[in-house]
Amino acid sequence: MSSIGIVGAGIAGLQLGLYLRSRGISCSLYTDRSSDEIRSSRLPSTAALLGSTRARDRELGTNHWDDATFGCFHVDVRVKGLPELSSQGRIDPPALFIDMRLYLPRLLEDFEARGGRVIRSGVLPASNLARLGDAHDLVVVATGRGDLGTVFPRDYHRSPWLEPQRRLFAGLFRGIDFPQELGLLFQIVPGHGEIFESQLLTAEGPVSCLLFEAIPGGALDALTRVPCDDDPHVVESLVLDLLEANAPNVHARVDRQTFHLTRPRDCMQAAIVPTARRAYVELGEGRYAVAVGDAFATHDPVLWQGANAASRSAWALGESIVQALAAGRPLDRRFCEGVDERLWSLVGPSMEWTNAFLSPPPPHTMAIFSAASRDQRIADAFASNLDNPALQWRIFRGPEGVDAFLEGFRRAKTSRSAGAVSVAPASA
Ligand SMILES: Cc1cc2nc3c(=O)[nH]c(=O)nc-3n(C[C@H](O)[C@H](O)[C@H](O)COP(=O)(O)OP(=O)(O)OC[C@H]3O[C@@H](n4cnc5c(N)ncnc54)[C@H](O)[C@@H]3O)c2cc1C
Repeated sequence: MSSIGIVGAGIAGLQLGLYLRSRGISCSLYTDRSSDEIRSSRLPSTAALLGSTRARDRELGTNHWDDATFGCFHVDVRVKGLPELSSQGRIDPPALFIDMRLYLPRLLEDFEARGGRVIRSGVLPASNLARLGDAHDLVVVATGRGDLGTVFPRDYHRSPWLEPQRRLFAGLFRGIDFPQELGLLFQIVPGHGEIFESQLLTAEGPVSCLLFEAIPGGALDALTRVPCDDDPHVVESLVLDLLEANAPNVHARVDRQTFHLTRPRDCMQAAIVPTARRAYVELGEGRYAVAVGDAFATHDPVLWQGANAASRSAWALGESIVQALAAGRPLDRRFCEGVDERLWSLVGPSMEWTNAFLSPPPPHTMAIFSAASRDQRIADAFASNLDNPALQWRIFRGPEGVDAFLEGFRRAKTSRSAGAVSVAPASA
């Protein structure tokens, strides 16, 4: 009987493992942390799961948080400047901001309950990976930004940055009134970075979540450099100052008396070098390891794509494995080359769009935000199409895409035919 070994219990490893178990394939998951250790760890991210990722959870029967009243129902994009641009688009279907310390342990328990084997052991160094090759027909590395992913050669052509373009601070707070309708505030501060405010579902219920994406050396950067754990009051007062100066709409909903960081471990700082890698390495004797999720393509979180791309690529890898096994084809080099091509075709657009967004916005990008501030349909299309990075990248990659996109709306207005405009979110 074929056996797949997966290293890493993040969204990529778990959705892949659950997918393979749903098709009756024997599967072992190597994790450096138990469910309880993940629950009590530091805030790892502030991920929003978009509609197609939630649809995959539904199909796997792991949609434990499908409450129609809680979600992210709109994206409020604001661009600081004179005048300030502002638009509010509906996300249809709604996204879900969820604490991965709530999400991942539950999926790990689901995986075990469905006959998956969980081995509580980190896999390091790379020589241990080769040993896993003896035990499994295919080894999948889903270790996120962890060191093990470096066994896959970096693709310099697909990875334009050698340094982080943003430094990150994320934290969970109480004392910010939720907006009337739950949603994301996406405040762009030209030359300095971005500020995101959302409502994140945690084990203690929904809390306010702030993510600062600071351009190194800019006005937001101080927050990414204060020692997060030393004195929460220093962090809190810096956050308030930055909100007041750059995101007044959020600052107006802060109650200074009750505003506080929920717990010291509810904040994180990071700096990510967006990196794409070749999806496979040979382990010897005809055995291979393939990379998926962040181990294959690490996105900066500025456009919310990483976890969604991880889910998308895990699902595609699962399909490829199931198809190969059903046809009696070996999981050999040819299989791996096919996986590399397929995963990049799915994840390349979100990587390229995200990488482009990290540069100063060109006039054609600003033209979309400006048009969205005047036309509700454009704001809605931008918000819903966050889940369709292939379409977004076709639009945003240059002035021609933007012109065609905006022209579609102009024509629809004059002909009253909305069908000319593609606003459909990606399918699963
Ligand atoms: C602040 C922040 C905000 C974000 N916001 C968003 C967002 O809004 N939307 C979005 O889509 N994405 C977002 N992301 C990105 C998202 O979190 C990642 O893309 C996603 O978690 C990648 O999933 P993964 O399964 O590939 O890796 P991970 O989630 O990193 O999981 C990897 C797992 O492997 C384990 N591991 C590591 N090394 C080993 C080893 N040697 N042996 C065994 N186990 C190991 C780790 O402990 C971890 O559990 C954000 C990221 C950050 C930092």
